[in-house]
Amino acid sequence: MHVFVELCYLVASILFVVGLKRLQSPATARGGNALAALAMFIAIAATLLDTQILSWTGILIGVVLGGGIGAFAARTVQMTDMPQMVGIFNGFGGGASAVVAIAEFLGTGGSAGVSTAGGTIVLGTLIGGVTFSGSFIAFGKLQGLLSGNPLTFPGQNLVNGLLFLAVLVSGVLALGVTTVDPLTAFYALIALSLVLGISVVVPIGGADMPVVVSLLNSYSGLAASAAGFVIGNMVLIISGALVGASGLILTVLMCKGMNRSLANVAFGAFGGTATTASGSIEERPVKRADAEMVAAELGYVNSVVVVPGYGLAVAQAQHELRKVGDLLEERGVDVKYGIHPVAGRMPGHMNVLLAEADVPYDRLFDLDEINDDFGNTDAVLIVGANDVVNPAAREEGSAIAGMPILDVDRARRTIVMKRSLSPGFAGIDNELFYMDKNLMFFGDAKESMAELVRELRELA
Ligand code: NDP
Repeated sequence: MHVFVELCYLVASILFVVGLKRLQSPATARGGNALAALAMFIAIAATLLDTQILSWTGILIGVVLGGGIGAFAARTVQMTDMPQMVGIFNGFGGGASAVVAIAEFLGTGGSAGVSTAGGTIVLGTLIGGVTFSGSFIAFGKLQGLLSGNPLTFPGQNLVNGLLFLAVLVSGVLALGVTTVDPLTAFYALIALSLVLGISVVVPIGGADMPVVVSLLNSYSGLAASAAGFVIGNMVLIISGALVGASGLILTVLMCKGMNRSLANVAFGAFGGTATTASGSIEERPVKRADAEMVAAELGYVNSVVVVPGYGLAVAQAQHELRKVGDLLEERGVDVKYGIHPVAGRMPGHMNVLLAEADVPYDRLFDLDEINDDFGNTDAVLIVGANDVVNPAAREEGSAIAGMPILDVDRARRTIVMKRSLSPGFAGIDNELFYMDKNLMFFGDAKESMAELVRELRELA
């Protein structure tokens, strides 16, 4: 039986790695996800069989109940709410790992001592506790249950530093190195880890929250890995390490896309009050256009680049956008899609949306690939994007200074589709809207796009 279970773990680990690899491309991502789910099923079934923790009835009830809740949540969650859903998953993952470590510690009656087991128990409790409370604060902020603004006070980083020190001290004391009761120190470790999770996430807000969720995702992997060491479970160690590493890589990629350092996200308290880079938003004149004008602007040119953003996702306008792309191509227009790495609210958000509408992958171009083309582009259609095309990023002192942007203002004509002149996630005004070459096509992206489809069909 033991060999069979270890074999199952090996198969599951290989499937996790292959599944993760397949997530790299939208074409193979679905299959990759299914492989990883199968791996998880094999790992869970093997573990339950091995240790015979539960009866078959118990296992079945757990699978149906847990699977049912998971399937319901996955089916009903809005694409734009994905960061908070991932936030909850991380919280439960971290919490589960902490509970495993706590149970093991209590099982020793507080005498884990200075040993590998003791060390991993302390580490699992610490990381799991921080991940648990921090993730639920992140969920509350993203879901609007708590204020999304950073909550800051003078000396906050010092307080957090001292708190971290206290966590470490209580962890060491829990190993029984002094006369302090290890059990009392361990309870202090649990409480302080939970407080630390809250206190490191409250000063972070706004556009930085998805980055924090990604970082907590990495922590939840580390906590699972620590739990794996605690109970000597190989597949938990491997899968935890995979989550830890991939979560960290994703976090770094997101920081790069926003041109921020991880330290700046963690300690910078960015994303709070809205500021305007250049005067009042309401009073400055813009050039307006309707669907007929936009159809004429796009239908008679050689090249169009479409830049999708968060508003496209909110309006669910991807299918109408695909029709617009097809109609333009039928007219001989060269249509490309410029994808910013942090467009939308999660990495890959736009790729997933456009894949849903079957926009061919070879028409999608990354920021680096497309930026040099804008100088030779006749028209850029910006659909519900704002921060990722905001030239304010090139100005020092702006809230998004240094963030790489799509240089759409180098094209001959830009057309922005959104409902108003309201700022995007970073809360700053966008000079592009007021430029001479720009037309504002106001309205909900899906409705406006449907009008555009009608007008393009009527073009001679
Ligand atoms: P923005 O958040 O900058 O702007 C989106 C725009 O969409 C808004 O200005 C809004 O204007 C418009 N909009 C909203 N609803 C609709 C609708 N129904 N129809 C048409 N337009 C609509 O989006 P971007 O994609 O340009 O930028 C993403 C932001 O998120 C960046 O600041 C990025 O740093 C941040 N971020 C992204 C992450 C990621 O991984 N993708 C992670 C962390 C942060 P209006 O209200 O006038 O319609």
